Formats: sequence, C-alpha cells, structure tokens
Amino acid sequence: MPAPEIELTEEQRLFRTAIAKLVAREVTPRVAAAEAAETFPVELFPIFGDAGFLCPTFPETYGGAGADTLSFCLLAEELGRAASGIAGSIVAHCSIGTSAVLAYGNEEQRRRFLPDAIRGRSIFCFAATEPNVGSDLAAMQTRAVREAGDYVLEGEKSFITNGGICTHALVAARGGEGEEGLSLFVVPREASGFSVGPKVPKLGNRSSDCVSLRLSGCRVPEENRIGPAGDGLKMLVNSLNGGRMVVAARALGVAGAAFDAAVAYARERRQFGQRIGDFEAIQMKLAQMATRLRAAKLLVYDAARVKDRGENAALPAAMAKLFATETAKWVCDEALQIHGAYGYTREFPVERYWRDARLTTIIEGTSEIQQLVIARRLL
Ligand SMILES: Cc1cc2nc3c(=O)[nH]c(=O)nc-3n(C[C@H](O)[C@H](O)[C@H](O)COP(=O)(O)OP(=O)(O)OC[C@H]3O[C@@H](n4cnc5c(N)ncnc54)[C@H](O)[C@@H]3O)c2cc1C
Repeated sequence: MPAPEIELTEEQRLFRTAIAKLVAREVTPRVAAAEAAETFPVELFPIFGDAGFLCPTFPETYGGAGADTLSFCLLAEELGRAASGIAGSIVAHCSIGTSAVLAYGNEEQRRRFLPDAIRGRSIFCFAATEPNVGSDLAAMQTRAVREAGDYVLEGEKSFITNGGICTHALVAARGGEGEEGLSLFVVPREASGFSVGPKVPKLGNRSSDCVSLRLSGCRVPEENRIGPAGDGLKMLVNSLNGGRMVVAARALGVAGAAFDAAVAYARERRQFGQRIGDFEAIQMKLAQMATRLRAAKLLVYDAARVKDRGENAALPAAMAKLFATETAKWVCDEALQIHGAYGYTREFPVERYWRDARLTTIIEGTSEIQQLVIARRLL
C-alpha cells in the first residue's frame, strides 16, 4: 500500500495531473532521442508555453498562470521524473533565467521580455559561472563598461544551460569605474560580440543544452540593464534562493523514478529461489529509500509553502536543496545496486537516473555552499 499523499490543495493536484499528462504526451516520447543526440528538443518551449506551463508563477498581466511556488515545484518534479536534462532546460528558463526580470525589471522591460518568455517564443539562459568563478560569485571577472549610452561586455561564461539555444541571456558582469559591483543585463543572442562555444560533454542530463558563451566587445543598450547598477549580487542571490527549491524538486522527480524502478525490479528478479524483494537486506534498502524520499519531499514542499506565505524562504530552501539532492544521489545509487549488473547497463533507465541525480548537488550552490548558507543563518 503506498504512503498517503502529502497534502496538496485541489488546485495543486489539478496542476500536477495536467503537467503529468503533458509530460507523458510530449516529453517522454522525446527523451531517448534527446539523450542520445545530447540536444534539447527546442520545440518543447512553444508546446509548454501554449499549454500555460512556462514561468507558471508569473502574474497573469504578462500572460503567466499566477500559480504558487509549490505548483512550480510539482512541475519540476514531474519533469525530473521523465528526464532531468529536459527538466533542467525548461526550469532554468522559468526560474533563474527570467525571475530577475520579473523581480527587478521595470514595467517596460517586463512587457518587452516576459510575454514571449511565458509563451515559449523566447528562451532565456542565466549566465553567471565563469572559467575561474563558480561558488564565489562576487569574484566575477566579466566586465560591463559604459560607452555612449550602451554597455560593452567583455568576458567568458561557462556551463550555461540553454546557452546554445537561447534567444536571450541574462548575464552578470562587473561594472566599470563609478559602477562597482555586479550588474545584470539581458543580452539578445543577435547582439554583436555574443558567441556560443562548443557543447559541454556532460556525464548526465544529456538532454539539456549546456555550452560556454563568449562576450567580446558585446554591446547592449542601457535599457537592457535589469535593476540598479551594482546591485547584481543581491539579485543573483535572491534568484538562486528561488531556483534552489526547484532544483530540489527536480531531484525528487529523478529519485522517485529510480525508487519505482527499484521496487519493480525487486518484485521481479529472482535469486536463491525467491524474489530479491523477499530478502531483508533489499527490504531495508527500500524502506530507507522511501523514508528519506518522503522526508525530502516534505522539506521541499515546506520551503515552497514558506515562500508562498510571503516569508523569507532562504533557510528552508537551502535545507531542502541540501537534503533532497543528497537524498536523490543516495537513492539513485541504491536503486542501481538493487538492479545488480543490469543496473550498470544502458538497457535499464536506472544508470541515467544515477548520472542525472549526481548533478543536483553541484548546481545552483553546491551542498557545501548550502551548509554555509544554513550555518550562517543559525549563528
Ligand atoms: C550541467 C551544468 C549546468 C550548469 N548550468 C549553469 C547555468 O545555467 N548558469 C550558470 O551560471 N552556471 C551553471 N552551472 C555552473 C554551476 O552553477 C557551478 O558548477 C556551481 O555553482 C559550482 O561552481 P564550480 O563548479 O565552479 O565549483 P567551485 O566553486 O570551484 O567548487 C569546487 C568545490 O569546492 C567546494 N567549495 C567552494 N567554495 C567553498 C567554501 N567556501 N567552503 C567549502 N567548500 C567550498 C565546492 O562545494 C565544490 O565541492 C552549471 C553546471 C553544470 C555542471
């Protein structure tokens, strides 16, 4: 008998059912080809946009669904269950790619950028990481120098999800003299001096797009700077706080799929004249996996509810990200172990779950950084 459902409102349940149907119809059939080709199926953006599932928390004024954060987490979870790579591209666009435009952009910028992003007619990426800058965002080296009403950007960005397929990049860069600190810019793909590097050869999440970007004398008008000059670090940190919950939810999806696969295998596989699920050692693994997964889900949903109540969710989001992603990594590892040799082959999906979950403890703040965030708030 499955554990009782964690409580959701009627609206959240309907949202989850609708997204699960869309994922089954449009995502699942595309996963194998996208993973093999290591490309994101870009046609999913307008499909998700037309169905009303892109940037779901954005207000109706710009064409959004006005859904709550928990619904957004359900979307990430359902997508993660089908394919963490595809989830990564869609979710990056909906959270860190566009959230700063909504939170800090002026009305003209919101009207210029958000309706197309919500309909999937534009694709955003978030470009903070650089070859020598990962966790320490304040050390960013990309420059943005004012010149005749424009900003001229110079630098390199690494590991950028959606970088190769984007129409717009949200770029963080350090200001020139008199504009110390980081600022954020929406850089259209066609801007002069914007170029896309080769694909990153990734361990997992192969159905997401991930490249480096080069900004070489890249000129963007001042009207494309989001928020006040020099406030970029604060805006980045706030965007990442929101993004973290969604990465955690995506990890729940991957781990949920791995757990289901492990249960099914434990019911079928026979050794020593009985189902392996009849061995206590396997039962204990499954019991631990189910318990930790439920705890992770409670933490993620709780963090989303804190945000939905309008309270500061930085601490619960860091706890949820830390626990859910570490749990997902462990659950996928145990699921692979339960599959024995078959788990180590590409004939079973569990090897993909194992590779995919591994990313989630690294992106949008590593597990070590989450612990620093948590400890700083405690002390
Ligand atoms: C597939 C993929 C997609 C990505 N997508 C994006 C994207 O869309 N946009 C973007 O900007 N970036 C993206 N990234 C980059 C990602 O956000 C960074 O990898 C992450 O922030 C960590 O930075 P780093 O890899 O440089 O690790 P580093 O910061 O170099 O850390 C290396 C190790 O040192 C540890 N460490 C660092 N500082 C501390 C400290 N103070 N205390 C204790 N331990 C510490 C880390 O936890 C880690 O274990 C992506 C990465 C990957 C792999």
